[in-house]
Amino acid sequence: MTDQGHIRHDNGVVSQVDGTKVPRYAGFTTFARLPRAQDVADFDVSVVGIPFDTGVTYRPGARFGPSYIRQASRLLRPYNPALDAEPFRDAQVVDAGDISCSPFNITEALGQVEHGLRELIGQGRPVLSLGGDHTVALPALRAVHAVHGPVALVHFDAHLDTWGEYFGEPCTHGTPFRIASNDGLIVKGRSAHVGIRGSLYDRQDLLDDADLGFTIVHCRDIDRIGADGVLDRILDRVGDTPVYVSIDIDVLDPAFAPATGTPEAGGMTSRELLAVLRGMSALRIVGADIVEVAPAYDHAEVTAVAAANLAYELVTIMATGKRQ
Ligand code: MN
Ligand code: MN
Repeated sequence: MTDQGHIRHDNGVVSQVDGTKVPRYAGFTTFARLPRAQDVADFDVSVVGIPFDTGVTYRPGARFGPSYIRQASRLLRPYNPALDAEPFRDAQVVDAGDISCSPFNITEALGQVEHGLRELIGQGRPVLSLGGDHTVALPALRAVHAVHGPVALVHFDAHLDTWGEYFGEPCTHGTPFRIASNDGLIVKGRSAHVGIRGSLYDRQDLLDDADLGFTIVHCRDIDRIGADGVLDRILDRVGDTPVYVSIDIDVLDPAFAPATGTPEAGGMTSRELLAVLRGMSALRIVGADIVEVAPAYDHAEVTAVAAANLAYELVTIMATGKRQ
C-alpha cells in the first residue's frame, strides 16, 4: 500500500490515517480514515456503502448516504471511552467501498447487494452497511442468514417496515421485515422494533406486525422508561441469539436527523440512541446497517455526524466481539 500515513500496530493491524500527522480534512475519504479492504492482507470487520434508493416511497436521495457518512466519519478518533475500547486496534477494520447495484431494477439490485455482502461476510465476518434506503436490509439479512441462520433483529426506526406491497411492488423500504419474517430470516419472538411512532394506515398494521414475530418499544414510552428501560426490553427480547441491528436514521427526531426521506415528529435523541447501543455491547452483533440518510435535506452535517457516531459504536462492538 502506498503510505498515506496509516497507523501500523504491533499486532499487524493497520488502522486509521494518523490524525496528528495528516489533518482530518486531508487525504482520501474512507470510513474513519481506515484502510481499504484491498490495502490489507485480510480483515475482521468491514464497513461498506450501499448507494441504492430506488425503494423509497417519499423523499429520495439516500443513494448519496454512504459518501456523506464517510465524510463526517473523518473526525472519529481511535479510543472509545464509553466502551473503553480501541476498535481499530483490536481488529482489522476496513472500508470495503461501495457495492455497485442497479438504480432501475429493484430485484436485480437486491441480488447484487446480497452477492457483495456474502463476499465480505465470508465465513462470518461482521459487516456494517451504510445505506441507501431500508430496502437494503433485506439482502443484508439474506447474506447474514446464509452463514448464521435466523438472527434476532433489533430494528430502530420510526416505522414498522412490515407493510405489504406498494403500487404493486413487494420490495420497497417499507417491506423488508415482512419478507424477512415470512422467509424465516429472523427469529420470531426474539425481534423488536424500537422508536416506532407516527401515523399508520390502520390499527391492523400493528396486529399484522405482532403476527410476524415482533415486539414494539414505542417512542412515546421512552420518556417514561428511559434509555435503560429500552435497553432492558431489548436484552430481554434477544437473549443469547446472534443479532442483526438495523438503524433507520429516522428513528432520531428530525431535530437530530433532518436528512432523511420519511421524517416523523417526536423521535429519539442521538444521546439516547448512543446510550442504548453502548448497552448492547455484550451482544453478538453479526451484522448491522445505518440507512435512510439523504444528505440533500441536511443542515451543518447534523445527520451525518449522528450517523457516523452511531456507526462508531456498532463497529466498536463488532471489533471487540472479535477479541472475545
Ligand atoms: Mn423509517
Ligand atoms: Mn425504515
